[in-house]
Amino acid sequence: MLLKNLKELQSSKQSKALKLKILYKLIAENGPIKTETLTELAQMKPATCARLLDELCHLELITTAELGESTGGRKPILYNINTEGVFLIGIELSKVYSTLVLMDLKLNMLDKIKLAPEPYLSASEMTQRLLPQIDSLLLKNNTSYHQVLGLGISIEHVVEHRLAFKSLDEEFREFETLLRKEIPTYVTVGSGVNFAALAEYRLYYRQKTQRFLFTSCDTEVRGCAIIGNQFLTDTSRAINCFGHMTIDVKGSLCECGSYGCLNTLCSLDAIKDNVTHQIRRGKDSVLTSLIDKDEEITYHAIFQAIEMCDPLCIDVLEEAAYFYGLAIANSILMLQPDIVVCGGTLIPKHNFFSTVKKTIENKLTLFPEIKTQIYPANHAYEIVSQGAGAMVLEHLVN
Ligand SMILES: [Zn+2]
Repeated sequence: MLLKNLKELQSSKQSKALKLKILYKLIAENGPIKTETLTELAQMKPATCARLLDELCHLELITTAELGESTGGRKPILYNINTEGVFLIGIELSKVYSTLVLMDLKLNMLDKIKLAPEPYLSASEMTQRLLPQIDSLLLKNNTSYHQVLGLGISIEHVVEHRLAFKSLDEEFREFETLLRKEIPTYVTVGSGVNFAALAEYRLYYRQKTQRFLFTSCDTEVRGCAIIGNQFLTDTSRAINCFGHMTIDVKGSLCECGSYGCLNTLCSLDAIKDNVTHQIRRGKDSVLTSLIDKDEEITYHAIFQAIEMCDPLCIDVLEEAAYFYGLAIANSILMLQPDIVVCGGTLIPKHNFFSTVKKTIENKLTLFPEIKTQIYPANHAYEIVSQGAGAMVLEHLVN
């Protein structure tokens, strides 16, 4: 019933439905919330707001609770979205790990499945590999697609370096079309960094700021700004340019044709290349005992060496953190966000985050009027999947 009403609200183009969506979105983002606060945020007349709230209650899209402080008279009513029996699925496919997450409409994680990294698969192979995994996640939780509002999925980490003829955008659209054929609910394929930015913002920072920057350092360095509740750039495009800012004009050639891009200095591949290069030059590292002589050095082996406090790998990681910090500091000078959140695989490794933060702070001491705060991502490993769910909700109300 709830899912049916949500989908009806989503597809309706009537002007009343648009107002209902505005209110529903505000309740989803701010709930539990009082009528007065809601009326103010929605910039509606109290009578109009009350009438629309009644309708949302009648449709069972929202719930009410008599909570909060009583000031002598009637206790204030708090509104919240109804999450009963409707779910979201968020999926992050990546070269390092992949995660399928089942969530409620408030993006609370209910269950998850972790998948080992896959070699490159075509869109149709990926679809065939994924469908049974989704089925088993649903089955495990005694539910089915009939209770799923939508599914969001990020695939860029799996395909980005394997594209010979197609663009990442085309690959996204092809995968989306295939999944939509097979899956009987709304499907969106998008960029992990946008998903992660949206989830971090909605779950932890929405109340604190209107100027928010999220960046992540993985196989590529990416950035996404949310200013005044809106994405600063077009999120329907797969391409992310953040990693192509020039940091070192004398640096090495980037795949984009330019020299010394951020990606060539602190991405996972850059770290791997740097470590490999130094070992070939005969530098000592515990890595040589972790891998066979001719075997390629993997990210996992490097992470393992870092955990064993290998000086060479730690040095390379620290240098990457320094360049990443410089790039973020440059972006802060331009965008002046209140909050920057750093995500990605490298953030929890050794002192990576603290070096990033220190580098930014050193640069910004010269600009004391800029008071940007820097935080690590809250749940570095599942935030992309949660954001994929948040993107489904965005589609519902926009
Ligand atoms: Zn580049």
